[in-house]
Amino acid sequence: MSGPAGMEPPEDPQRRLLRERLEAIQIRTEKATSWRDSTGRLQSLINREGYVPVTARLAGEDLEFLSAAREELLSLSELGIRLLDLHQPRDAGGITSDTANPILRCRSCMWRWPCPTFRAMSDALT
Ligand SMILES: [Zn+2]
Repeated sequence: MSGPAGMEPPEDPQRRLLRERLEAIQIRTEKATSWRDSTGRLQSLINREGYVPVTARLAGEDLEFLSAAREELLSLSELGIRLLDLHQPRDAGGITSDTANPILRCRSCMWRWPCPTFRAMSDALT
């Protein structure tokens, strides 16, 4: 059962901003052409100087993606690494009958390990 509309607390503007940033990255990335197949073929064409001379037809969406891709991937990987540092298991220190498998909790959010944040990261990245 959910309460009537308007009963939920107003959304935190900072949270909304972050969500909008992430959704913008997601949309920009989805619109861009995947280079997976092309780069596989191009790999064999790397010249003596270590380059492949490429003539590419880029759609507007591809250019938009490429212009921001490096910075966005850097900030997303930075985010991931910081989340991993925050959410890691520690021995809960409780009394357990199974000393070989002590109960572990996340040292940041205190959920039982693996915590929801770690599981979300694991689902998204593996
Ligand atoms: Zn956690």
